[in-house]
Amino acid sequence: MEFIDLHRQYERIRSDLDSRLEAIFKHKQFILGPEVQELEHKLADYTDRKFCLSCSNGTDALVIALMALGVGPGDAVFVPTFTFFATAECVSVVGATPIFVDSDRSFNMDPYALETAVCNAVHNKELIPRAVIPVDLFGLIADYTKIQEIADQYGLAVISDAAQSFGSKKAGKPACSFGDIATTSFFPAKPFGCYGDGGAIFTDDEKLFDLMSSIRVHGQGASKYMNERIGMNGRLDTIQAAVLLSKFQILDDELERKQEIARAYDLKLNKYFPCPTIGEGQYTAYAQYAILAQDQEQRDMIVRDLPKQGIPVMIYYPIPLHMQNAYKYLGGREGDHPLSEDFCKRIFSIPMHPYLKPKEIEKICESLIAIIE
Ligand SMILES: *Cc1c(COP(=O)(O)O)cnc(C)c1O
Repeated sequence: MEFIDLHRQYERIRSDLDSRLEAIFKHKQFILGPEVQELEHKLADYTDRKFCLSCSNGTDALVIALMALGVGPGDAVFVPTFTFFATAECVSVVGATPIFVDSDRSFNMDPYALETAVCNAVHNKELIPRAVIPVDLFGLIADYTKIQEIADQYGLAVISDAAQSFGSKKAGKPACSFGDIATTSFFPAKPFGCYGDGGAIFTDDEKLFDLMSSIRVHGQGASKYMNERIGMNGRLDTIQAAVLLSKFQILDDELERKQEIARAYDLKLNKYFPCPTIGEGQYTAYAQYAILAQDQEQRDMIVRDLPKQGIPVMIYYPIPLHMQNAYKYLGGREGDHPLSEDFCKRIFSIPMHPYLKPKEIEKICESLIAIIE
């Protein structure tokens, strides 16, 4: 059994992808070929955005967004502590300082903890609060209504890290439609993944879009060898765009299959564990089906024993970012963000992909229940 089964998906897109790849090998525009633009138009449309800029990966997408906003040394950017490392790393890459914020029971950034963190930063006067990066963790869209209010009050830009939520919706609004800029990742294991590294950036602001387009290609100006600013090499390969165009055709169907699988999991497991709480009006791409064990001891037992029965299990995430070695210099300590620290001790994720069969779901649930009983 695979944690995320890309074989079964490949069989579905194989012939469509073959013909797309053949076309690329014929036209040979491996960098920024026509497939890249076709994909950008389709994704802008899908996310209700005016502009989509594809790029090299989800981390570079965040770096490009911060560069375009002019965030740098002396600036503070608020990020959840319970997320993947890249959400904070991008802040450090541009020379700014991440300020960590606790999550609430939805696993997403707690708007009240954000407000406290921003107030503290304003009082400290050491850094200038510039932006906040909410993450749609495991696919669930963050509370942008409350976060946007706080951002407006304190003049912060909102960058939505939607690396795990492409395809999710909240009150009918798609992931990547929130914030001044939204970013996503096409890493193979994400809800919408390619066959290598890839990412995209979304905005409705034409000026930001032009700036980010320039940054993506070495700060290029009106022509290829005019450089207006410091940028990077952050393009998406044409071949990866073709993979995504093929997968785009089955994305909505895959999302629907995941809803059914999640419902089957909920039904079988909710007597034993608090299952993912999907709030009113939320539709999630289920980047993960994450469960909280009773305590760390039970979680560690599950993580030890499930693989013995051939069932892969993962921990997203074992260490909150404020306690990572890389961020020791910021002085974060145990107890700073109690909910996130507790999640890290108890959380685990079971296989979640559109091609799980009823028999596999049954085996996963039965093995899991047997371990804890
Ligand atoms: C995967 C991920 C990223 C980074 O994406 P890459 O394409 O791997 O660089 C950023 N933020 C979150 C929340 C992610 O899950």
